[in-house]
Amino acid sequence: MHPHAPTLTPGAYVDPARSAPAGRQRGWGRFTLMTRSFILLVATSGVAAGVLWMKKETPNPAGAVATREAPLVEARSLKPLLETANAAKLAPYAAKMSSARSQEAVSSPQPKEKDASHAMTQWPREVVLRGTPQVHSVSQDAKSGEYVYQTEHFEFSCDIALGVDVVRHFAHVFEATHLLNCQLPLDLKPAPESLRKLYRARILSKDADYTALRKAPGGGGFYSSRDKCMYVPASSLGVKIAGERVLLDQSIESNSTLIHEITHQMMNRWVSLLPLWLLEGSAEYVASADFVHGRFSLGQMEDRLKQRLRSLGAQRKDNASVRCNMLNVAELLKLNHKTWSAGMPSPAGHENYTSALLLTYYLYHLDRGREGAGIIAMLRAVGEGMPHEDALRQFILAGRKPAELEGEIGMAFARMGVELKFTRRGGAVFEP
Ligand SMILES: [Zn+2]
Repeated sequence: MHPHAPTLTPGAYVDPARSAPAGRQRGWGRFTLMTRSFILLVATSGVAAGVLWMKKETPNPAGAVATREAPLVEARSLKPLLETANAAKLAPYAAKMSSARSQEAVSSPQPKEKDASHAMTQWPREVVLRGTPQVHSVSQDAKSGEYVYQTEHFEFSCDIALGVDVVRHFAHVFEATHLLNCQLPLDLKPAPESLRKLYRARILSKDADYTALRKAPGGGGFYSSRDKCMYVPASSLGVKIAGERVLLDQSIESNSTLIHEITHQMMNRWVSLLPLWLLEGSAEYVASADFVHGRFSLGQMEDRLKQRLRSLGAQRKDNASVRCNMLNVAELLKLNHKTWSAGMPSPAGHENYTSALLLTYYLYHLDRGREGAGIIAMLRAVGEGMPHEDALRQFILAGRKPAELEGEIGMAFARMGVELKFTRRGGAVFEP
């Protein structure tokens, strides 16, 4: 046996016919040692590069599950959403959003699909799916109990055969919510999670399986940023299973929880970049919109906001006005996942959603009369790499103290029939 045989790498080549003379044995040995060292160095570099690539492209496996009732906690490491990070260039953006957008459209008429923006420059009054979603049955494996269907932007898997007609029925809400999030002037540029071409949704035929997965009853679905997947009980999609038959139940009145969660999935790459009030507020905003037969109507958002506030516990004052509590702005801006989750079993949980929705709505439509210019500028800056707290100071507060912003919020909502009482919990406050 060759003296170095035990340390040979499996791929190392040894020519058995070539036995070196005794005098050259040491020189040959040194050459072999150097060759092996070189191979080892190349292999180690390769492995290190592989590990770095994997770290970059895969999500943190320790991430927490995000649910409708517990906020999004974790997301994969993100590449900047936009190409450059230049805060100085962003300052005029708030005032010139429309012209900047149209210039972009002129300078890059054919953007890459990945970075393509389908955002509108004006706030849409209606977002409608064109035609019926096309559904393809990708696999039907009765043995493993895995049935997979695809639409343009989603892949649905289920433990029973649903059939393309049933999938087409609930695909409306998924595809329409995707379209709405693409078209909002926020310029979110929704995209499937890293390494995915389609958003994934797992449909669970048995409510018990869903409850076990979610570790709590109720809820119409939840998005897990760890699994990069939506989990939805078939029952909340209007799908009834009667023995071997799969039926459609058209009596589902509201898809709002599902739309809230799909919006979290659409915003997956923003999860680690944005404050909690905005992640939850933006999902609540979309969930507030009127959605019927694949059509979102945003023309009556004031009324829809009041309806949503009532469903979250607001009191009705009269037909046109409501009264509710809102967490004071300084604490709301600083609200973290721990405090949010801790509030869940109590009325503070509803107050969190109410407060996040109110602040988000205010910034989308009411702040400084500029149809979301401040929040759009903040999102753009964050997308370019600015920490969200800095972007908040620069583009939202813009010299105002949280208490001043709170005063403006109170007056703006009072004018539209939403009477706010600001609450204090004594938590951490945002330092302007
Ligand atoms: Zn949420």
